[in-house]
Amino acid sequence: MAGLVTFRQDRCKGCELCALVCPKNIIIMDETVTNRKGYHPAAVRPEDMEKCIGCGSCAKMCPDSIITVERL
Ligand code: SF4
Ligand code: SF4
Repeated sequence: MAGLVTFRQDRCKGCELCALVCPKNIIIMDETVTNRKGYHPAAVRPEDMEKCIGCGSCAKMCPDSIITVERL
């Protein structure tokens, strides 16, 4: 199974909870981006997206519900 993960980066507070629970360790805090809240938001590098298994753990863990997981 594969997944496609999207983040509403403008609302991310960089708490890293999603990164901690990802079984594939593909979620990073993107230091090349600073959002309106002043945080480096969560992201998956395009080259790592194929490793996503669509488990949904990141979306369940996010306290602000800003992650969407599509199962492909
Ligand atoms: S859906 Fe699962 S594998 Fe994919 S980024 Fe989220 S926690 Fe990681
Ligand atoms: S759990 Fe949500 S708020 Fe926290 S870093 Fe991940 S996407 Fe951002």
